[in-house]
Amino acid sequence: MEYEAVIGLEVHAQVHTRSKMFCACPVVPDTGNLPPNTYVCPVCLALPGALPVVNRQAVALGIRAALALHCAVQPLSVFARKSYFYPDLPKGYQITQYAHPLARNGYLEVDVSQRFCRIGITRIHLEEDTGKLYHGNDGTRVDFNRAGVPLLEIVSEPDMRSPDEARAYAMALRDVLVYLGLNTGDMEKGMIRFEANVSIRPQGSGTLGTRTEIKNLNSFRALSRAVDAEIARQIAILNSGGQVTLKTLGWDAAGEQLFVQRNKEQAHDYRYFPDPDIPPLAVTPEWVASIAASLPELPRARKARWVAHYGLREEDAALLVPDRALAGYFEAAVKHGLGCGVAPQDVANWMTGEVFRLLKARTSGITGARVSPERLAALLRLLYVEDAINVASAKKILEVMFETGESPERVVERLGLSQISDPALLEAVATRVIRDSPTQVAQYLDGKEPLIGWFVGQIMRETRGKAEPGQAQEIARVFLERERSNRF
Ligand SMILES: [Zn+2]
Repeated sequence: MEYEAVIGLEVHAQVHTRSKMFCACPVVPDTGNLPPNTYVCPVCLALPGALPVVNRQAVALGIRAALALHCAVQPLSVFARKSYFYPDLPKGYQITQYAHPLARNGYLEVDVSQRFCRIGITRIHLEEDTGKLYHGNDGTRVDFNRAGVPLLEIVSEPDMRSPDEARAYAMALRDVLVYLGLNTGDMEKGMIRFEANVSIRPQGSGTLGTRTEIKNLNSFRALSRAVDAEIARQIAILNSGGQVTLKTLGWDAAGEQLFVQRNKEQAHDYRYFPDPDIPPLAVTPEWVASIAASLPELPRARKARWVAHYGLREEDAALLVPDRALAGYFEAAVKHGLGCGVAPQDVANWMTGEVFRLLKARTSGITGARVSPERLAALLRLLYVEDAINVASAKKILEVMFETGESPERVVERLGLSQISDPALLEAVATRVIRDSPTQVAQYLDGKEPLIGWFVGQIMRETRGKAEPGQAQEIARVFLERERSNRF
């Protein structure tokens, strides 16, 4: 029997606001680095009599995400209490949205290995995060700095059919949230977490099989590996005549193994009901319209524009688009480059090659780089338009520019790197190299022609890398051939 997988994802993304979802405590990007329980107040500690107040900025960002994902923002939504007991949850319930979420019925367009899919989005709602438990040898401690931080939950339709599709959707969603400025996209710090619902059914069947839920997946790799393992587990059960049962699973990323968290009989009853302390959330059409007017160009559209207008290779566009600062830098460099004859694809090649390499060696990122987009374009103009330097020198110059913040022209002058294009000079060097290497000349003339590369290398060395390699090769060939006719 051939099976197909049916996968839906629930994504929890931290919303970047100044203060928490229902109180004035500040939200800091990395709560793990703060002294524990210092960013707390009576509201997020659930002290008696404290009342929650909805964070307007969090709602605005939620609407922003909803619009980017083509959802219908609901004029009225309701905050509800989801009751369960766990030590990281001070109130004994979480404030979330249940029957009446902020937005419904959207979609996200995703490219999965050259193929386009549209993944439906069922609903988007706002809720608060829990605290964090630290398990040590001397017991377990709890830190409430994260308790009450706003989260956006984005629930997809079960529209994905493979781990690759689930991964592509998760990555595209992350890119959108980062572009909207509501999340840093930092998976290692848990800024985005995934839960996957997985079932299988006979290929072509219209009914859904029994699904299981995999909780707390916090990397793209964990997501696709866990879903892959779960599909294989369910197929093995059905093939051996068994039945898949409702389960909540966890994923051990280090051991690459699924484990059971809860079976059906232990499933929670959350006793949802509207929070009596929070009035229904009303969103006016005017507010939605003003947010819609401020939406930026989204990653997929930007990538398509680069491919169409700049003639960029798809894979390079995909590397440069996700980080908004990097994408902005690239676009600025392309604009300066186009003004002086540098091709956008050359800018892309240098960005994904040398610039990425130099950024990796530093930690400041593109915003902290000492090379402006204009100066990167100026360097590429010296290389490709004016032929004033060669590739090896350009790499060296860019590295110095990253160190010192100097202009490329200044570095060329200071290090004496301008290319030697005077043929008389190169010919003199080639004559010397050939005179000093009788063994290699004899081997070459004997038919060992790849040795030409060695001669080019010698010429480059003699000129301290300032010769144009193509020209050096041509001169070496002419001189060696002249040597051949002299001998025979
Ligand atoms: Zn608080």
